[in-house]
Amino acid sequence: MNILEVQDLCKTYGKGEARVQALDHVNFSVGKGEFIAIVGESGSGKTTLARMIAGLQFPSGGNILVDGHGIYKNRKTVRGHYKSVQLIQQNSASALDPKMTVGKSVEEPLRCFFHMEKQERKKKCLELFSLCNLPASYYARLPSELSGGEQKRVAIARALAAEPKCLIFDEATNGFDLPLRKKIIEEIIVLQKQLGFTLIFITHDMELAVVIADEILVMKESVLMEQVAFTGDTTVFSNEYSKILLRASGLL
Ligand code: ADP
Ligand code: MG
Repeated sequence: MNILEVQDLCKTYGKGEARVQALDHVNFSVGKGEFIAIVGESGSGKTTLARMIAGLQFPSGGNILVDGHGIYKNRKTVRGHYKSVQLIQQNSASALDPKMTVGKSVEEPLRCFFHMEKQERKKKCLELFSLCNLPASYYARLPSELSGGEQKRVAIARALAAEPKCLIFDEATNGFDLPLRKKIIEEIIVLQKQLGFTLIFITHDMELAVVIADEILVMKESVLMEQVAFTGDTTVFSNEYSKILLRASGLL
């Protein structure tokens, strides 16, 4: 069964003159454990799509099914999906509570979703730290005492604490220098292989997408242009806009 089905998804912001159509009848599905990349220029609707899949924003039309269940039937079904789909955004510092130690931040989902006791929580938290290449000595630190890359790893550990079926990475390495971007991406790929979650990697970088993902979705101006299974042969892309992106990266 598909882990994710996006059906006729629409989103408009604002009214009248200020009306913006951020998503226009978007349809696609993702299989369990797949690694897909969503590629598109700034403003094409990627973040809107990510937030809706994560249950953070109601659509104007259409539906999203996770594991066969509609997310947006009512507020209760939305809440039920906070655990299944975890979103890592660009700004990890703002995603972490500045007054809470990073250990406590990672433990929060363990408490909320799994009702773990204090000792069990700490044990699991340190396992997640280790999995995400964070030293155990960081447990009692505040986010401000960590580098950007380390904060990102904390955000990843916190997301994994929920044992999500699907992890969305929304331009989450933007702003980092190239070696750090590569390092974090390599780490997330290792984690996906190890844990088997479905990974949705959102980027404006076609060159990166074709290197890492098994399937590529191309977006332009609120419309999904195409979805292709990618095995290394760029001739599988048939949409003209996809070809423009490929040519711009020297891939066609
Ligand atoms: P991307 O992540 O691909 O850059 P977004 O989903 O952030 O795209 O934005 C898609 C479109 O929707 C853009 O035109 C953007 O300006 C608009 N938009 C996004 N969020 C809002 C909002 N909260 N209010 C109004 N317009 C928005
Ligand atoms: Mg965005």
